[in-house]
Amino acid sequence: MPTLVYTESALRTGDAVHDEILPAGKGWLHPIKAGQYFRILDLEGNQAVDTLFYNAADAGDRYDAINTIRAQGNIFLTTGTRLISSEGNVLLTITADTCGRHDTLGGACSAESNTVRYALEKRHMHSCRDSFLLRMAHSSEGLTKRDLASNINFFMNVPVTPKGELTFADGVSAPGKYVEMRADMDVLCLISNCPQLNNPCNAYNPTPIRLLIWDPPAAG
Ligand SMILES: [Zn+2]
Repeated sequence: MPTLVYTESALRTGDAVHDEILPAGKGWLHPIKAGQYFRILDLEGNQAVDTLFYNAADAGDRYDAINTIRAQGNIFLTTGTRLISSEGNVLLTITADTCGRHDTLGGACSAESNTVRYALEKRHMHSCRDSFLLRMAHSSEGLTKRDLASNINFFMNVPVTPKGELTFADGVSAPGKYVEMRADMDVLCLISNCPQLNNPCNAYNPTPIRLLIWDPPAAG
């Protein structure tokens, strides 16, 4: 595996304008204004945070994994990655990362993937797709099933073999690791804090995350 590069943030948690703990299995939909900084903190380690971003002015313009991978020439996300939308806009830029590796190939877990990856009797278990849809159903922004796109899995380690196959591996995150990004435009963030009990990535133990937002630093 290539060397992981870590970048720390200078922002202090006490200065955040939003600070919230999101339990595993819960969904979250929240605006992030242009210039604000957004941090996702892995409280207990190796928690998969399934995340989508939308242009706040037009949900049809949304995070696009293929555009993002093409723009940076790398399948993993880390410091410096610009998160590109389906219309080619820069939604956010990752500005700090103490985990070093985030997946955007694996997609969100669903009832269907639970049966294919694990066992038929896992179908009924909670999934990120269900959490996304449930949060959308309670949104005032009118998001619907058609707004589900290929997502980011923050803190998830999904190595790709030389033959191009996806594998699941032990996570490289740990308690207290975080990823931080600056919004380059007004965006909506949709998170499913993964409830997956069947994946060795998180040692079969979904855990809470901490979500923080800072206002843009004052000029000068
Ligand atoms: Zn999941």
